[in-house]
Amino acid sequence: KVWERYNIKFIFVDTTNPANVQAAVTKNTKLIWLETPTNPLMNITDIETIAVIAKSANALLCVDNTFASPYLQNPIDLGADIVMHSATKYLGGHSDVIQGCLMMNDAALREKLYFIQKSCGAVPGPMDCFLVLRGIKTLHVRMRQHCENGEKIAHWLRKHPKVAKVYWPGFEDSAGYAIAKKQMRGFGGMISFELKDESEKEVKRVLSATHLFSLAESLGGVESLINHPASMTHASIPKEERIKNGLSEGLIRLSVGIEDADDLIADLNKAIG
Ligand SMILES: *Cc1c(COP(=O)(O)O)cnc(C)c1O
Repeated sequence: KVWERYNIKFIFVDTTNPANVQAAVTKNTKLIWLETPTNPLMNITDIETIAVIAKSANALLCVDNTFASPYLQNPIDLGADIVMHSATKYLGGHSDVIQGCLMMNDAALREKLYFIQKSCGAVPGPMDCFLVLRGIKTLHVRMRQHCENGEKIAHWLRKHPKVAKVYWPGFEDSAGYAIAKKQMRGFGGMISFELKDESEKEVKRVLSATHLFSLAESLGGVESLINHPASMTHASIPKEERIKNGLSEGLIRLSVGIEDADDLIADLNKAIG
């Protein structure tokens, strides 16, 4: 809606199948942008394979690395040109700042983007920078705990009789497992799931019945959050588009924090019933 008016064209494809990306690339392609794992369905794209496609097309590859954080995944080492982080999430880690960053190891590209940043005004304030820098000091210990808790809760949810499906990249039988295993050092604390009873009433009941998981948008903080993508984070995507992409009306997303895993499980157990 914004950049198309500048004559920039966008094509959306499912990047989990590199053939889709290859088929969409034209001589005009300047940039391939991917996200892995994706929000909120945890789909995994092979960064190395897409980097080869980008290189042969003379296009840049940018990877949204927000869900993994640099502790779990380093796209530049896999051939990406630019890595984007929502620093609002794991880098900040305390749900008290909104910030983003682009990482690259090419001085000329950095110079170009830095010029745009300073000329157009996307310059973060000192307090925001302080909060993100303070957050990064504990990124490694937080991520370890997010991963440990995430693994416990994902496996627990999968065994729950009222849960129909769990989305978490660490399940050995999930579609992206082999690639996730190859390019990530852990699977993080983001989990989505569907209840067997997908009625609006039941989904709403569960969403409002947790105590340790606060019902809120955003993710990646030390405190656990529960979210309903269809009415919250992804509400601006038209319903048909959401359904087409597998995002059901009943999907519930968890950002598992660093609290005691058994406390979190007890909280979910009480809420799901
Ligand atoms: C939150 C998020 C963004 C947007 O970041 P903001 O800091 O909220 O502007 C982009 N990508 C992913 C994967 C996110 O989770």
